[in-house]
This record gives sequence, structure tokens and C-alpha cells, in this order.
Amino acid sequence: MLRSAPLNIGFRRILADNKWIRSLHLVSRRMSVHLSDSEDTFKWNLIDYRCFTVRSMYLDLLNGQTVFLKYIWKIKVPLKIRIFIWFLHRKEILTKDNLVKRNWQGSTTCFCDQEETIQHLFISCPFAKIIWRIVFMTFNISPPANMTSLFGNWLNEIPKKDKGHIRVGVCGLLWAIWNVHNDLIFNKKSFPSFLQVIPMSTHWIHLWSYL
Ligand SMILES: [Zn+2]
Repeated sequence: MLRSAPLNIGFRRILADNKWIRSLHLVSRRMSVHLSDSEDTFKWNLIDYRCFTVRSMYLDLLNGQTVFLKYIWKIKVPLKIRIFIWFLHRKEILTKDNLVKRNWQGSTTCFCDQEETIQHLFISCPFAKIIWRIVFMTFNISPPANMTSLFGNWLNEIPKKDKGHIRVGVCGLLWAIWNVHNDLIFNKKSFPSFLQVIPMSTHWIHLWSYL
């Protein structure tokens, strides 16, 4: 089939709708392929010496992605916290909207009675806003507008020497919000208030200082 131009491809049924487009796409990809009689080999196109490395794939996945994400594995916090932040970025932690997708039958609302999503719980919930407001008043760091900003260009204006410390603080804060949330929802613990997030996160940040 590939020896002739145009390609000698026939289909028994008519290609309709997007199948026609997809077939054109396939043919156009084939145009750059030049076959020879030599033996087949595998090549990894992401690096010059054409050998697969996990590092090259990882860097390629990160390429064009968020800034915070590039640093996740270097932040001086325990590994389980870095993994939590990674899942948070991938929107895979089990907030109620994600639980519903797994047949969760319980309530879908946050303690503030709005729908619980990752964006809501960590950024837009009135309780979360109070926490971010306290951070702003204490450190003069404006809250992130949304999760994309949190993992993106949020700290762009901050001097480089401070960013590492701020990232540790943010990890402590996000981890504390998640734990207070779980205690309230699943363990039915009653804290005096959501403000428990503040002493909880400072406790962890202090604990992680040995790192
Ligand atoms: Zn809420």
C-alpha cells in the first residue's frame, strides 16, 4: 500500500464523518515516513542519543506545565506531602465531587453549604478565604486566584530566595486544610473552628524545619 502515490488504500465501507478526517490525518503522518530494508529499531525522540530515560519523559511531561510543579519534588517537606500536592494538582484527591464519581451517596456540600470541589475547598470556600486572608495579613502574600494560579505564576513577583520557604508554608497550609476537612467530614471530630488549620499548619512547618 505504501509503495504507491497516492496510497493504495481501499475501504469496503465509506468513511463518514470524523473517520474521513482521521484517515487523512493518518495518511499525512505517513508522508514523513521513509521505509528502508534495514532492520527495525526503536528510537526515543525526546533526547539526542535516542535512548529512553524516565527523566526525559518526566521533563517532557512537565514542559509547558506549571512553575510550582517543577519544584514539587524539591520542596523540603516529607515525601507523602509532596505526593499529596501532586495529586492535588492532578485534581485527584477525594473531595466530594470526586467521591460522587465513585458512587458516594452522602452529601455533596462543604461545611459552608456550597458544592465541594477542590477549587472550592482550598481557595473559594469562605473558611479557606479567612485562612488566606490571615496569610496575607501576616506575610503580605496575596492569595492565589484559583488552583491554576496556585500551581502556576502565583509567586512570580516574590524574590527567589523567599519562594522556597513560601512553598513549604503553602504545603503545610494545604495539608492542614485537607486534614481538618477529613476530620470534620469523616472522623466527625468537632473543632472549635476551621481556624484550627493555622496552628496545625504551623506545627507541621516547625516539624519539617529539620529537613
Ligand atoms: Zn465551603
